Amino acid sequence: MHVLINEQEIAARVHELGAEIAKDYAAAGDLVFVAVLRGSLCFMADLMRATELPLRLDVLDIRSYQGDTGDEPVISHGPMDSVTGADVIVVEDILERGTTLARAVDHLRAAGARSVEVCTLLRKPGMAAANAPQPRYVGFDIGPGFVVGYGLDYDQHFRNLPFIAIPGEADLAALAADRT
Ligand code: 5GP
Ligand code: MG
Repeated sequence: MHVLINEQEIAARVHELGAEIAKDYAAAGDLVFVAVLRGSLCFMADLMRATELPLRLDVLDIRSYQGDTGDEPVISHGPMDSVTGADVIVVEDILERGTTLARAVDHLRAAGARSVEVCTLLRKPGMAAANAPQPRYVGFDIGPGFVVGYGLDYDQHFRNLPFIAIPGEADLAALAADRT
């Protein structure tokens, strides 16, 4: 594993983001953090504790179905409670093209949220999709390489690493060997 962002760097940045959100939303009536499952769970757990404001927690699951319409992302779960009239912050692990996120934001707006903003831990230099929402909060801008850890997976593995890393060939080969 090549560590890209270590635990201390993540913690420091998450605290800055929490302080920024607390300042921006000091006047909000009903603030809701919506985690996009499953990759944003670590980030959500830390970010909500770094945000010193009353807030609600909710979750959203998005699946990309490979059908004859292409791989259109579909909301498969959530939010669990009403977001009507709420100020929503969508909490994402990583943003690349932004197609998944665009779907989430549309869904929350249609559900009657008063405002919808995006907080992503990582942003890649991907080609932004035409309708991609611009995140208001970004933890780190990173390169195009595939990363794991702190919630992010490779085939459901590595989510529990406390840092963000680029897996090496040996790490992936070890996974494949474990399966046989
Ligand atoms: P997009 O922004 O292109 O719609 O897709 C972003 C999604 O692709 C993320 O939510 C994540 O699930 C996945 N993804 C993109 N880059 C990476 C990466 O480097 N590592 C991991 N684990 N997932 C990624
Ligand atoms: Mg995601």
